[in-house]
Amino acid sequence: MRVLVIGSGAREHALVLAVSHDPAVTAIACAPGNAGIAALAEPLAVDVSDAAAVAELATRWKADLVVIGPEVPLVAGAADAVRRAGVPCFGPSAAAARIEGSKAFAKDVMNTAGVPTAHSEVVDNPAHLDAALGRFGPTWVVKDDGLAAGKGVVVTSDFDRARAHAMTLLDGGHPVLLESFLDGPELSLFCLVDGRTVVPLLPAQDFKRVGDGDAGPNTGGMGAYAPLPWAPPGLVDEIVRDAVQPVVDELANRDTPFSGLLYAGLALTSAGPQVIEFNCRFGDPETQAVLALLHTPLGGLLHAVATGKLAEHPPLDWEPGAAVTVVIAADGYPGVPRSGDVITGSEADGVLHGGTRRRDDGAVVAHGGRVLSVVGIGTDLAAARDEVYAKVGKVHLPGSHHRTDIALRAVHGEIAVPAG
Ligand code: AMP
Repeated sequence: MRVLVIGSGAREHALVLAVSHDPAVTAIACAPGNAGIAALAEPLAVDVSDAAAVAELATRWKADLVVIGPEVPLVAGAADAVRRAGVPCFGPSAAAARIEGSKAFAKDVMNTAGVPTAHSEVVDNPAHLDAALGRFGPTWVVKDDGLAAGKGVVVTSDFDRARAHAMTLLDGGHPVLLESFLDGPELSLFCLVDGRTVVPLLPAQDFKRVGDGDAGPNTGGMGAYAPLPWAPPGLVDEIVRDAVQPVVDELANRDTPFSGLLYAGLALTSAGPQVIEFNCRFGDPETQAVLALLHTPLGGLLHAVATGKLAEHPPLDWEPGAAVTVVIAADGYPGVPRSGDVITGSEADGVLHGGTRRRDDGAVVAHGGRVLSVVGIGTDLAAARDEVYAKVGKVHLPGSHHRTDIALRAVHGEIAVPAG
């Protein structure tokens, strides 16, 4: 099987690495890839936002399976174009990807399907903003109703800050989604979905804020771990039953079946699990931790999803223990990241590349905000943490920063699920 992966982040590096371990896979290419991915997959050029170009590349390279990592090509219809070209594709249609591309659409699907989620209102007229803010908060949750790479959300108990963020979005022509605040630990549950059948992966937790102790602004994600030692028994089955399967069934009823990876972000509140958001693709950096523990060959598994045969696939096989991933970010991130600094130690085992590029002289240099994702595996979460931070210490990027507390509260048993 020839597998073409679309994307260029550490998530795609994790996908390529796992696919490369599948004995059924004979060739891997990645477009556009990065310096680390190029060691495992043939590097190809493509504009990921050009659906026709992705499909043309899949045909030209004679791919048997295309795996689309990021949301941008999915929302642009790349999976539709690849399927129209007759190539099996892991990734939802543009119509189904709206579950991530439009938060208002996601709310409508969830409400119709009876999925527990925060109460919300869309505001598209500045004249209605103050009254709407008055019906929420404190704490206020103010979101951009569109793709914002995890950075369009402000959660604040400061009215002026909430209002200012909403005004910035409205001034830019973006409708604003206001939501009730969900209190409780957050988790990410990735589910493989082939239109009907849902197979959950291990639950994970990610760290969105830039600094230790959840200080500073939101980012695309600064680290993650899996599985969750604090999760109550039966939690994953409950989420699939009450949140994921109803959304999958609703999308199928609307003639826009979801095929690919449906990512449920939830808060475990005193009223039970409540959905914060759905995404239409693997999450970065949770994927780096979750796939590190997957023993089932990934190429065959994603092909079963792409061809609607998930129900016939054997149950998933997981390594025991835990995995932790820590993101090393460039100076300036999540603002404007500094590019071009030379990285040393990035070729070690367990170092996945995000924003990197190989210079003409062979040096690997930073080329983006989240530069590397380092992954550690251990018999338990404490051991995985020790392992990942030992590896982080051996990588050097001038001016870089990373969080030192990924998975720490879970290791200390400090994550409490509110009593119902
Ligand atoms: P999103 O882009 O919707 O994933 O939101 C980014 C982050 O903002 C989430 O991971 C949460 O930490 C936080 N957040 C979003 N919505 C809510 C909510 N309704 N209540 C509490 N926190 C939220």
